Amino acid sequence: MKIEQALKLIRDVPDFPKPGILFKDITPLLSDGEAFLAVTQKFSTFAQSSTIIAGIEARGFIFASAVANQLGAGFVPIRKAGKLPYESISATYGLEYGDDELEIHKDAFKPGDKVLLIDDVLATGGTIGAAIDLIHEIGGEVIHVLALLEIPGLSGRERINQLHPQIPITSFMNS
Ligand code: AMP
Repeated sequence: MKIEQALKLIRDVPDFPKPGILFKDITPLLSDGEAFLAVTQKFSTFAQSSTIIAGIEARGFIFASAVANQLGAGFVPIRKAGKLPYESISATYGLEYGDDELEIHKDAFKPGDKVLLIDDVLATGGTIGAAIDLIHEIGGEVIHVLALLEIPGLSGRERINQLHPQIPITSFMNS
């Protein structure tokens, strides 16, 4: 299956989790084996020189861990506050529907690690921006950001480009 076909399985759910938010529900894509494979295979082609794959809780984990496994690479979770057991650093950021905090283990990377960062949706860019900051703070280098889809009216790409013009961002659907 082509990724374009897989993306057609994403379902719009209006007013979730709050009125006015059009939620992009990826579960119909995930439950279709060919579609899920098409996405992770496409994502894997962007691994290039990366040495490790990072995913953002929760839906980013699904794609990032599948891609890491396909490549035989390691996976690093970037988690919501209070979930990681070992020494961590945190970053707070604004979201399309509220505030949130992300954390990463201090020892998540080896010196020189090049990180492919994956999430499902790029909206305002707050989440991915915070994840990039965390990765850089503990010595990783983000070499590419992948999102399944992007909500262009919210300027997430522009926000990240301004702060990190050297990091390419790839998404596969604008809606
Ligand atoms: P943002 O930080 O605004 O770029 O939001 C991105 C994060 O929030 C991602 O982790 C997404 O999973 C989630 N998210 C934001 N907006 C939506 C949406 N409309 N549909 C599904 N997930 C969303």
